Amino acid sequence: MSDHDFIILDEENTNGEDKSSRDTAGNEEKKEVSASGKSSEKKEDEDRYEKVCFICHRPESVTGRMIDLPNHITVCPDCMQRSFDAMTNGSIDMNRLMNMPGVQFLNMSDLENMQPRQQKIKKKKEKPKEYHKLNIKDIPAPHKIKAKLDEYVVGQEYAKKAMSVAVYNHYKRVATDTMDDIEIEKSNMLMIGPTGSGKTYLVKTLARLLDVPLAITDATSLTEAGYIGDDIESVVSKLLAAADNDVERAEQGIIFIDEIDKIAKKRNSNQRDVSGESVQQGMLKLLEGSEVEVPVGANSKNAMVPLTTVNTKNILFICGGAFPDLEEIIKERLQKKTSMGFNAELKDQFEHDKDLLSKVTVEDLRKFGMIPEFLGRLPIIFTLKGLDKDMLVKILKEPRNAILKQYQKLLALDEVKLEFDDGALEAIAEKAMEKDTGARALRAIIEEFMLDIMYEIPKDDSIGQVTITREYIEGTGGPIIQLRGQVVPRLG
Ligand code: ADP
Repeated sequence: MSDHDFIILDEENTNGEDKSSRDTAGNEEKKEVSASGKSSEKKEDEDRYEKVCFICHRPESVTGRMIDLPNHITVCPDCMQRSFDAMTNGSIDMNRLMNMPGVQFLNMSDLENMQPRQQKIKKKKEKPKEYHKLNIKDIPAPHKIKAKLDEYVVGQEYAKKAMSVAVYNHYKRVATDTMDDIEIEKSNMLMIGPTGSGKTYLVKTLARLLDVPLAITDATSLTEAGYIGDDIESVVSKLLAAADNDVERAEQGIIFIDEIDKIAKKRNSNQRDVSGESVQQGMLKLLEGSEVEVPVGANSKNAMVPLTTVNTKNILFICGGAFPDLEEIIKERLQKKTSMGFNAELKDQFEHDKDLLSKVTVEDLRKFGMIPEFLGRLPIIFTLKGLDKDMLVKILKEPRNAILKQYQKLLALDEVKLEFDDGALEAIAEKAMEKDTGARALRAIIEEFMLDIMYEIPKDDSIGQVTITREYIEGTGGPIIQLRGQVVPRLG
């Protein structure tokens, strides 16, 4: 059977113009729809709906261009081919073909008797995407990157500065590829800071500002290939997914590996440590730059998916971790140094040094259990500070998308003004400090007491303003409710 034995028709044509041609010529060209109004309507319809295969029920976006058959029936090329093969090749076992799930045998004569039916599904709306290519001129100068970060991230001045410079250099390197004989080193980073101090948030903000794809993964979930868990290369697959399977875009992305301290070699242990050190070893090539084969659209190589090659040479790796006990190692080192000198009383000074972490050296990290080769591939090391009360208050109200601003916006939609007095903000920060999870605790605390507010306020149209007080946060009083036009303090 040749390709011309089936009839290609303009199947949405309802005015019957093509009826005659359908009955006669098999390979006739589609007729233009004469009425221009109708054609634009039809075009719009085609944009919103897509055809579905009559046999396997997959949509056109999956199968590729459909073949139109009489009676508004569309069949995908795969099923059509399968039908032809079955008919022309006697060696195929028809029974087996018929019994395959989702496969029906296409019988042309049946099609003639079939009622026309709607064989289209609505397409998912795709957002138009504009990717800007990175080139030297596009990369904002470090101070501009930092200024942008300032809008979102409170404090952490040193970290923001170090990051801005590193990112700037990295993308300059990417844009130029190499500079003569002097190859610029990759600016992979290691961020050290307590939980909730904004490590992940900084990276997320940065990737958004630079409009590069970002993959976030947890070092604890990574294993050497062959062990149960995600193998190390799966992070590249995640990045490819974040870049919408655009390899070129993925190759300029950022990979953030959190909890990197959890893959430290175990100290003071005689056990052979398979997890930590070997994962660090396994990551070396990736950090430096290597070609990685990754599955497209899935994060397992076992799935029957096509593989593609991603080069990690220009991918920026940022590792982050809280490194508990690192302070002890730093303290030990500093104390050793001073006790050798004459001012041994300085020893005590380190006990209360809040900035101890920022004095970290590569040697300290080695002692912690990171292998030298791994540290060598993360040349930019910086620390983040633990958040104090003032910073927590600022985080509540200052960033562009501060939590308070979000609630204020929500209530403003009901035309209610939401205010927090200073005491309330401090009380929230104090509560968060107790939890010791940095800024992460803030949202949970606010959500807890805002629940009642968000539930009660929309009940009463006359309420114009709500002021949250320290008493309300501490459970000893209520918020101040101001009706439209008058002030009525409400307690309890
Ligand atoms: P971690 O350091 O554990 O990765 P995260 O970055 O996940 O902490 O911080 C948790 C949340 O706290 C973030 O989503 C962000 O909203 C908020 N946050 C933390 N630090 C800051 C900061 N310095 N400025 C603004 N928001 C912050």
